[in-house]
Amino acid sequence: MFNSLHLRKSRSILAAAFLLISCQVSADNWAALTELDKIKTQNFEQFSSSLDEWLVKDTELNVKEQHYVKFLDLFRNVYLKGYTSVIDEIEQMLQQDLPLTLKFRLSALAVNAYQIKRDFRKAFLYADDILRTANEIDDAYTLRQVLAPMAHLYIDARQKDLAQFYIERLRAVTQQEDRACFADYLDFRLHIYFSSIDELSTHAQAAVNSCKDVGETLWQDLAYAQWAKAYLDNNQIDDAITLMDQFRASALASSYPVLVGSVYNVDANIALERKDYISAKRYLKLAFEKSASNESQELRMYLNETAYKIAFNEGNFEQALEYYKVFKQIANLLDKDRADKQLSYELVKSEIEVKNQRIELLNKDNELLYLQKNVYESEAKQNRLLVLVLASVLVLAIVMAYRGITGRRRFKRIAEYDHLTGISNRYHFNNQAQVALDYCESNAKPVALILFDLDFFKNINDTYGHAIGDWTLQQVVNTCRNFMRNNDVFGRIGGEEFVVVLPGCHTDKALLLAEICRDAIANIDTAVSGTEFALTASFGVTGADSSGYQLKQLLADADSAMYRAKEAGRNQVVSFAPEQE
Ligand code: GH3
Ligand code: MG
Ligand code: MG
Repeated sequence: MFNSLHLRKSRSILAAAFLLISCQVSADNWAALTELDKIKTQNFEQFSSSLDEWLVKDTELNVKEQHYVKFLDLFRNVYLKGYTSVIDEIEQMLQQDLPLTLKFRLSALAVNAYQIKRDFRKAFLYADDILRTANEIDDAYTLRQVLAPMAHLYIDARQKDLAQFYIERLRAVTQQEDRACFADYLDFRLHIYFSSIDELSTHAQAAVNSCKDVGETLWQDLAYAQWAKAYLDNNQIDDAITLMDQFRASALASSYPVLVGSVYNVDANIALERKDYISAKRYLKLAFEKSASNESQELRMYLNETAYKIAFNEGNFEQALEYYKVFKQIANLLDKDRADKQLSYELVKSEIEVKNQRIELLNKDNELLYLQKNVYESEAKQNRLLVLVLASVLVLAIVMAYRGITGRRRFKRIAEYDHLTGISNRYHFNNQAQVALDYCESNAKPVALILFDLDFFKNINDTYGHAIGDWTLQQVVNTCRNFMRNNDVFGRIGGEEFVVVLPGCHTDKALLLAEICRDAIANIDTAVSGTEFALTASFGVTGADSSGYQLKQLLADADSAMYRAKEAGRNQVVSFAPEQE
């Protein structure tokens, strides 16, 4: 009797003790997971191996803790495989009953993931979820995890004011914790698009310093890498080199593909500047390999740009053209994304407004609704009438304005552009070239001019017909256009005679460009037209050094060089040499 009672008593004591211990363990678990969470960007290796241990003892954890472990595992997958690979998991997890802070951070991951997936509508919808419930969160760490992607979203949409707003909110939150790293990093990112290099450097230094202070090595190195790229873009090669030496080792030690890829890309460009093509190619190869996840379109664009420059400098024009096309294609895609983002942002804004209004209405007391109904209805009727009248007037005004604008635009296009090839006609080319030449002359900048004429074009017309001739002219223009910068002036000044004015360009660069165009024209696949024939052009090149800044003289000199190219057998580039003429 005594024994059994004793036994029962001791059993319940044991059970109570076990309960106590397991509760104790649970509280410890949560704290330990929070600690693990915090080191994930500081020491990824350690984070990853501890996480594996947690996953093994998953069944010993309570539901809340299991969610936390699952979230951290999801984050690890983002880090290693990119956002798009986890999008379904994020959605699934968001369906569950999660602690508010996790729900918040998952929504933030969703914002990023949908951005990368280019589903901007979804990204902004999640962003709005975050905003509406942000007040319920008072934990600075969680807020920081959430406000940062919001700022990112608006930086990428180039919404300066909104981005600045979130950065400042983030700063206010993080300053309590004395951790301005994230706000400073994002502030620097924003300035990449809106500031001069000097101003940018101040912000970059601030970001690097504050991230270094708190041991956020990943963010520090990401800031360094973009800073170095900015120096490179601004032709400050020495500054880029000095900077690279400060963080290359730690960046390469990280396993973050975008960072490692960016570092090798800058190294490739530095090697290119030193004309060390072998190293440049080696670094570029590494960059392509290490960033193979293709997560960052921007990086892919930069890598193809670097590849194009290397091939170009090596005189490997065909390959340069291929890389250039990919580079341009991604650049166009990114431009389009930005426009899409802006549009989605506006659409989601009104979608949400409507939704909120509906919720507000539903929440109102029924009686009040009933009483107000009549008032609303009569008001609405009047408003509808007013809106209808205003809308009609507006539509009429818009139609008239649109007609006026498009009519004028169309007329202007017809007057200025060649209808067959879409580039400037002779008249418009003359005007544009004059502006470019005047600018270069008054700013003492170099300028060069390329003139080219298709070889035996009359034969092509006579043998294959005028339609094939027209097709050929279009192909030639489309091909050469790929190699022009925005401010180059490209015109069709005769039947099959074209000119390019290159502001800021010395003759040697123009010769290289002419050589690229010549090579590209000779490589046009004429079989696509239905008949295969030889297609080449002869080029004459001159610059302000030898011909001055008068358009007439530049044209005359380029023409005589072109004439010599024809004489020498065609399909070649000749530079104007005053002493020989
Ligand atoms: P060369 O190598 O000496 O330049 O020989 P070529 O045959 O190209 O010389 P030429 O300048 O005599 O021939 C130019 C021909 O271009 C004459 C004309 O039939 C043709 N042409 C001019 N404008 C057009 C056009 O808009 N479409 C087509 N299909 N042909 C055009
Ligand atoms: Mg010709
Ligand atoms: Mg001709």
